[in-house]
Amino acid sequence: MHDETLGVHAGRAVDPATGAITLPIHLSTTFERDADGGYSRGFVYSREGNPVREAFERCITELEGGSESVAFPSGMAAAFAVLQTLRPGDRIVVGQDTYFGVRDLLIDYFPQWGIETAFVDVNDAAAYRAACTPQTRMVWLETPSNPLIEIIDIEAAAAIAHEAGALLVCENTFATPIVQRPFALGADAVVHSVTKYLSGHSDVLAGVVTFKEPGEFKRHVRDFQSIAGSTIDPFSAWLTLRGIQTLAIRMRAHCENALAIARFLDGHPAVARVYYPGLENHPGHDVAKKQMRGFGGMLSFEVYGGRAEAFAMLARLQLVARATSLGGTHSLIEHRASIEGPHTRAPESLIRLSVGLEHPDDVITDLKRALETA
Ligand SMILES: *Cc1c(COP(=O)(O)O)cnc(C)c1O
Repeated sequence: MHDETLGVHAGRAVDPATGAITLPIHLSTTFERDADGGYSRGFVYSREGNPVREAFERCITELEGGSESVAFPSGMAAAFAVLQTLRPGDRIVVGQDTYFGVRDLLIDYFPQWGIETAFVDVNDAAAYRAACTPQTRMVWLETPSNPLIEIIDIEAAAAIAHEAGALLVCENTFATPIVQRPFALGADAVVHSVTKYLSGHSDVLAGVVTFKEPGEFKRHVRDFQSIAGSTIDPFSAWLTLRGIQTLAIRMRAHCENALAIARFLDGHPAVARVYYPGLENHPGHDVAKKQMRGFGGMLSFEVYGGRAEAFAMLARLQLVARATSLGGTHSLIEHRASIEGPHTRAPESLIRLSVGLEHPDDVITDLKRALETA
C-alpha cells in the first residue's frame, strides 16, 4: 500500500464494539482477567501494553517497513533505551553532527559505565572505517543531521558498520519514512523523535524505535520500555496517530516550501551560506537525490557576522516564531549555538529554520524584511 493509505489505516481498524471510525482512546491502566486467570484479550497493565500504544507501534512499523516498534515518552527516552543495550567495554561510533542531547548523553553519562564513544566525520570513509574497531557494537547515524544538515550515505555507512560486526542505528527524525527509508538502505533500527514531524503539530512529546528484525536487540529495548517504565501515554499515541493521517501530505508541503525558501535565501546578499540538500551547491546533494524522496523541511543558514547579528535578524521577524523544536505546522527559527551549550559545533552566525505549512511567500516576506531592515 502507499504511504498516504498507510498513514490513514495502518495499525487501526473500525472499532468492532461500536463501529467508531477513529480509534477510541483507552485510558484504563488495567485490564480484566478471565475467570480462569488468563488474559485472552491481550492486555494486563498499561505500562506493559495499551491498545492505543500498540496501534501506533504497528502503524510506524508499517510506514518504516520494519518488523516491530517500541514507543517512548520522548525522543531522548527512545535514544536512551537503544543506547542502554551497550555493555561495559563496548564502543559506539557516532557522527560528529549528532543531535546534542544524544551527544551529551554519550559524553556526560556513558563513560562511567565503561562505554566509549568515537565521534567521526562520517563523510571521511577511511576515518569512519578506522573508527569501527572490533569493540564497536553500534554505529549511530543521523541524516540529514542537526543542525548542519549534513547528508550521510546510509548504504555506505551500513556496509562499514556491518563489516565491523556493528548494528546500524539511523535517526530518521528529519526525513520521516515518507522521505527516507533507512531499512531499505541497510539500517538495523530506526529512531524517531515523534515530537517532530510524526505527530506534526507541536503538541506531543514522544519517541519511537523501529527494528528491522525481531531478535535480542529488539527484546532488550522492549523489556526496557516495560521494566524501566519508559512508555508513551495513550493520549500522546492517539494524537500521533491523528497526525500521521496527514504525514505524507504534510511532508510534501514541507519539502516544497523549504526548497522555495532555501532558493530565496541562497540568492540573498545578506546570507553568507545556506545548508539545504535540495540546493545543487550542497555537498550532499547527489547522495540526497539517491536516498531521499524530496529534501525535507529543515534548513540552516548563516548571516554575516556572529551571534549579535544572528540575534538581531531573529528579533526583526514577525511571522516566524523564535522557538526550538521542528516539524510542526508553524515555521520555527532558532539560533542553534546558544541552545546546544558547550559541545556545540554550530557557528555563532548559524540560524536553523523548520519550514512550516504557512504559504512560503509569507515566510519569505518575513525573512526578507528581517534580513534587509538592519
Ligand atoms: C528533538 C530531537 C531529538 C530529541 O527528541 P525529544 O522528543 O525532544 O526527546 C532527538 N533527535 C533529533 C534529531 C531531534 O530533532
